[in-house]
Amino acid sequence: MAAEVLATAGNQVDVYDQRRSPARKFVLAGRGGLNITHSEPLDDFLDRYGPERVRLEAAISSFTPDDLRAWCDQLGHETFIGTSGRVFPKEFRAVPLLRSWLGRLGSLGVQLHSDHRWTGWNSDGQPTFESSTGATAVEADRTILALGGASWPRVGSDGSWQALLEGKGVSVKPLSAANCGVHIKWSDVMADRFAGEPLKNVAVVVDGAAVRGDPIVTRAGLEGGPIYAQSRRIRERLEAGIGTIEVDLVPDRTFDSIEARLSSKWRSADSTAKWLRNSGIAPVAASLMREATGNNLPKDPAEVAELTKAVPLTVTAMAPIDRAISSAGGVAWSEVDKSFELTKMPGTFVVGEMLDWEAPTGGYLLQACFSTAVCAARHIASP
Ligand SMILES: Cc1cc2nc3c(=O)[nH]c(=O)nc-3n(C[C@H](O)[C@H](O)[C@H](O)COP(=O)(O)OP(=O)(O)OC[C@H]3O[C@@H](n4cnc5c(N)ncnc54)[C@H](O)[C@@H]3O)c2cc1C
Repeated sequence: MAAEVLATAGNQVDVYDQRRSPARKFVLAGRGGLNITHSEPLDDFLDRYGPERVRLEAAISSFTPDDLRAWCDQLGHETFIGTSGRVFPKEFRAVPLLRSWLGRLGSLGVQLHSDHRWTGWNSDGQPTFESSTGATAVEADRTILALGGASWPRVGSDGSWQALLEGKGVSVKPLSAANCGVHIKWSDVMADRFAGEPLKNVAVVVDGAAVRGDPIVTRAGLEGGPIYAQSRRIRERLEAGIGTIEVDLVPDRTFDSIEARLSSKWRSADSTAKWLRNSGIAPVAASLMREATGNNLPKDPAEVAELTKAVPLTVTAMAPIDRAISSAGGVAWSEVDKSFELTKMPGTFVVGEMLDWEAPTGGYLLQACFSTAVCAARHIASP
């Protein structure tokens, strides 16, 4: 995106990527439909960046979700708003959009150098690269680093830039998993019988904040939308030594209505499993309650009703970063100015997920990457 802005302004731009083809993570994001941005009002949109809103607000306000949608339109890839307000290209994947985009960059004269790994700077301050044909140094008036975080390293963003920047005295907050699953120590029964099953229409509650959705049981714990959305809170609690989260299995129902239903369905001849099933509690949800009580489910309808409203679970760890959707941490805000130029290295800019912000899924990740890139590039084009 930065290359496009700069080339449109008449600059010669060279893009280097260590993979054999560019934008692998963008293509990976396309497998889930490419949720490119979100349609909610800008003020609500900006709130999704939490404490980092203040850092990103100017960039996103000058290249907004509407601007991003217009950019897709101009490339011939109309977008639509899904039921949740999320925005997707009509094709629901990244490859056609990427093809058109690379075509446009090519026609603007942008040179793409794939299979070029950036390795730092030489003694003259020139960026250096390694490729299958050897090592090179490049003369550049300005450099924009857009090397991503450290999730899914096999698509190219491996976070190896951290050491290179730290070597120049740039402070980097260690990259950690964001928008990722959590580890919970399940019994063999839970892992063997229910891995892959969603907990339908529940609320995941952390620090009193509830996020609705359908988390999925995995062999290692839980993943899916509401867990990803809570991953920042869960990670911060884990850092403080607290691993508990709660799941409200019936967020649309009151304690009284559940207790009444459980009481009306109780038959002395029925097993607990049958009683719960007849009361509308799915086997996977019942199993979750068993996990939380050490397989000692209460028999009293009021106690079970209470449990359905807040099943306590103990998270032991966040899932590893290599399977996370995005990374928290990155280049510290104290190191960059308003146009994301490194204060210790004038002429070098840092954009996208390399910077120290995080956001939930919903299109907020790609939007901030695009907006920070546009901001840096516009500053270079017209300082
Ligand atoms: C499975 C998955 C699904 C996702 N879905 C969505 C979604 O629907 N919506 C959304 O908003 N976000 C989504 N994301 C997140 C989004 O893809 C990222 O936030 C975004 O791609 C980050 O952009 P970036 O330009 O900062 O870095 P990246 O897209 O990670 O690109 C960094 C590039 O730098 C290259 N690179 C790294 N180090 C070097 C080096 N030393 N030398 C040369 N090249 C190097 C890499 O090869 C890579 O091509 C998803 C992520 C994943 C993993």
